[in-house]
Amino acid sequence: MSESVFKFYPLEPTRGFLPGEADTIISAFSDANDLSIAADSIRVHDHCGVQFIDCGSSLERIACPLCGAAIPMTHWQSAMDADFDTSAGFALASFIQCDCGRQLPLHGLRYDAHCGFSRSWVSVVVHSHFWLGWMLQYPWIGHVEAHV
Ligand SMILES: [Zn+2]
Repeated sequence: MSESVFKFYPLEPTRGFLPGEADTIISAFSDANDLSIAADSIRVHDHCGVQFIDCGSSLERIACPLCGAAIPMTHWQSAMDADFDTSAGFALASFIQCDCGRQLPLHGLRYDAHCGFSRSWVSVVVHSHFWLGWMLQYPWIGHVEAHV
């Protein structure tokens, strides 16, 4: 059976959840998807440092949002390694030089499928169709879908 993990997080990468925000997300998607989610598959993640919210094997391409050129995975991986500290998380202070001349921060790249950076997120494991229309009410939330 195919499963997906959805991860919902504040789009501003460094602030983490404000009080009540994780509960807001959980109640909004529970109301919208009451039949499809088991309660034990919902988890709140809180870290003191910024983490990469990855889409797993769905990540096929990383590109410059300004010119569309692909960023080589090896350049991206080196920048990720240089930016990450195991206790402090990502500093988001490393830049990748695109061939078009722009300096791009790690959280300013175009990830396909979408990925993000955050200190906090809510993860939900789903086995069937999952409705995301409720997110329109919460423009501060981003989401990543990883197939597992
Ligand atoms: Zn570019």
